[in-house]
Amino acid sequence: MPKISKKAQLFTESVIREMTRLCNLHNGINLSQGFPDFAAPEEMKEAACKAIRDDINQYAITWGSRNLRNAIAEKSALYNGLTVDPEKNITVCCGSTEAMIASIMATIDPGEEIIVFEPFYENYGPDGILSGAIPQYISLHEPDWSFDFNELEAKFNNRTRAIILNTPNNPTGKVFTREELSFIAALCQKWDVLAITDEIYEHLVYDGHTHVNLAALDGMADRTITINAASKTYSVTGWRVGYAIASETLTSAIRKVHDFLTVGAPHPLQEAVAVGMRFQKEYYERIAVEYLERRNYMLTALENAGFRCYKPYGAYYIMTDISEFNFPDDTTFARKLIQNVGVAVVPGSSFYHHPRDGYRKVRFAFCKKMETLQRAVDRLHDLKSRLIPF
Ligand code: PLP
Repeated sequence: MPKISKKAQLFTESVIREMTRLCNLHNGINLSQGFPDFAAPEEMKEAACKAIRDDINQYAITWGSRNLRNAIAEKSALYNGLTVDPEKNITVCCGSTEAMIASIMATIDPGEEIIVFEPFYENYGPDGILSGAIPQYISLHEPDWSFDFNELEAKFNNRTRAIILNTPNNPTGKVFTREELSFIAALCQKWDVLAITDEIYEHLVYDGHTHVNLAALDGMADRTITINAASKTYSVTGWRVGYAIASETLTSAIRKVHDFLTVGAPHPLQEAVAVGMRFQKEYYERIAVEYLERRNYMLTALENAGFRCYKPYGAYYIMTDISEFNFPDDTTFARKLIQNVGVAVVPGSSFYHHPRDGYRKVRFAFCKKMETLQRAVDRLHDLKSRLIPF
């Protein structure tokens, strides 16, 4: 029998995508996977159709169409305080997922250590395994998901090659503060460590919190890879257009890996994303207000249904504690919730390297139309008496 590789045996299929499939099977409302059920901006859809009609249907330059790279550089200067040369510092990839794995493969050798904040976006686990890196986890502590500065400092050593962070954060909704990022920046410089930051939720921040770009902090431009994508900001998760911004040296390595992984992101969609990236600031202000309304609605509804919520200040998820429901674990709870109630969530264990650490948690996504959220909330009514553990 042909065998499968040791690497592939080391991780399971995505729990989040499994929940989506189970949800479809039971005709449930999908509050598990983070994709919107509302329309993408009209101008971008038009631009995508036009690009195809204009026969922009062949490979773009491997590292991204010039038009999109120019738009990324303009937007990065405007919103992120970054000076980015589109010819030297940008690699357009198939979503931020590919930008992350290409960046890790381009910079980390097997046996080197990477520091990862936990709970973490589930892709970072397999990303580490595929690159042969050894993850060192640093806990984000409830209820505010802060981390212990001394504990972080103790994780850095001569084998540390990179730190991976995601702000605003999935699944916790934490927005890393300037003070926290400055501390991380100082450690990176002290230990000659690279920072890889996933900033895909940069425009979704609430309650006066602000998104700070690590790469814009003193001394960090050349030792940070900033990962981002059109997926969340423009509600086009299926278009698969993301990018990595880095120094010229790092970028040339990322571009090589990217070239042989995927060649390039879909060319007509790159042109359409360039249109979105040139939207005025009102667009970003509007989506933040709309998401805030969804967050507030779901926070109240979930508390009423018996969940203890960790209020998110960024991104579009609510991490909750399910202790009140007396279930043996999060996965049993999530399966029952789909089968008996028709609402899909993600079991908390998928965000921890020791699954037990997430047994008392599930994550809700609120990137849905208000009417979808209202239908889900209707189903959660009187939940405790309807959701029996065994
Ligand atoms: N990074 C984070 C933190 C995410 O939450 C997600 C999707 O949920 C992704 C990356 C995936 O992004 P993309 O669809 O651009 O690959």
